[in-house]
Amino acid sequence: AQHFLARSHAHQHLGAYVALNEEATLAQARAADARLAAGTAGPLEGVPIAHKDIFVTRDFPTTAGSKMLVGYQSPFDATVVSRLAQAGAVTLGKLNCDEFAMGSANENSAVAPVGFNAPAPVRNPWDTTRVPGGSSGGSAVAVAARLAPAVTGTDTGGSIRQPASFCGITGIKPTYGRASRYGMIAYASSLDQAGPMARSAEDCALLLSAMCGPDLDRDSTSIDLPAENFSARLNDSLEGLRIGIPAEFFGEGLAADVRAAVDAALKEYEKLGAKLVPISLPRTELSIPVYYIIAPAEASSNLSRFDGVKFGHRAQNFTDLEDMYKKTRAEGFGDEVKRRIMTGAYVLSHGYYDAYYLQAQKIRRMIADDFQQAFQQCDVIAGPVAPSVAWKLGEHSSDPLADYLADIFTLPASLAGLPGMSVPVGFGEGQMPVGMQLIGNYFQEARLLNAAHCLQ
Ligand code: GLN
Repeated sequence: AQHFLARSHAHQHLGAYVALNEEATLAQARAADARLAAGTAGPLEGVPIAHKDIFVTRDFPTTAGSKMLVGYQSPFDATVVSRLAQAGAVTLGKLNCDEFAMGSANENSAVAPVGFNAPAPVRNPWDTTRVPGGSSGGSAVAVAARLAPAVTGTDTGGSIRQPASFCGITGIKPTYGRASRYGMIAYASSLDQAGPMARSAEDCALLLSAMCGPDLDRDSTSIDLPAENFSARLNDSLEGLRIGIPAEFFGEGLAADVRAAVDAALKEYEKLGAKLVPISLPRTELSIPVYYIIAPAEASSNLSRFDGVKFGHRAQNFTDLEDMYKKTRAEGFGDEVKRRIMTGAYVLSHGYYDAYYLQAQKIRRMIADDFQQAFQQCDVIAGPVAPSVAWKLGEHSSDPLADYLADIFTLPASLAGLPGMSVPVGFGEGQMPVGMQLIGNYFQEARLLNAAHCLQ
């Protein structure tokens, strides 16, 4: 823990951490040492980890990357946080992210990283003029720059997979409902899912085994399946594994450098005995409009709780209650969050609901059905995580749609609630890392981790 704290301070310029509390970390580490000495160690005893600042924590402040929550201290730990602590993990601190997890580049954080007095960009350690991806950008940077051996992230539409890909690390989003959402600050509840990010599939499996499991009293969408040992099948043979290659993931929009790295990894799979099967996910393109209707709709509802009354930011000067709400929300939320709230409220409003929200829900169902059709022909699906390597800081700043479009390959699995992961497979333009995406059927996390492990 001391080693990683020292490295984290020495690499503050990367902007990965938004909170460190050395005293709390070392107290947890001493308690882990005592359990190790007493022979009561858990599976992750003494392993230092850090959490995306979207999980509430008792020992560290929680901001979700928003001015709205600066100064907020949670009275309880998120289920994922407490499960990892029960397994023995020691918390190093909290990691930067896009405000309320809305973004694809971590350029939407409104919070000053440790060592800064104002918001500053999170930098990709492979090239500090580039973005780390988002929304779990701080998480990916912490692992890539060895500021933590493993971390947590959350993925609503790609926020674990895409930053993992941009930073050359491994990350997995489990099946929706596997990990409890209790204490995870809500963005789009029907999509939000927690998962680990680490150097390897092997490390991800260790963390995932501790994070998952039913939490029925606290998260009504938690799945009633016992926690699984995700490390058990890492070394299974890939002989005869059918890997589905969706034509729509390899079309015109895919950069040649990314394609080359993914193709090379697929060749490796063939050498390991797997078979490549051409498949189709015909509604891939529709996942963008569908996601950017459903996620903002849910966000507009979830974010109504930030009203200046119960907790978080409250405007200083106001004339009456309505004025207080307006000023609090105008001051507390950043531009991207406001854009989502307005879009979401619009698509849910009377007269537009049927045309937008309901249509989107119907197509979401069809996208999920397309995957079931595909899984009749294959065991896992492989493709790129993102159409390109990490772009330059500020490159999309005048064009939020450019960020949305770059989510095209991660959104389909999110809308279907399927597990997906990102595995580093090489380097592209500018010597930047490229990730390959693996998507499995429901509850097939062990198989994805197995396929990823065999490449590493
Ligand atoms: N880029 C997507 C969005 O902005 C996904 C974010 C996420 O998965 N949290 O909504």
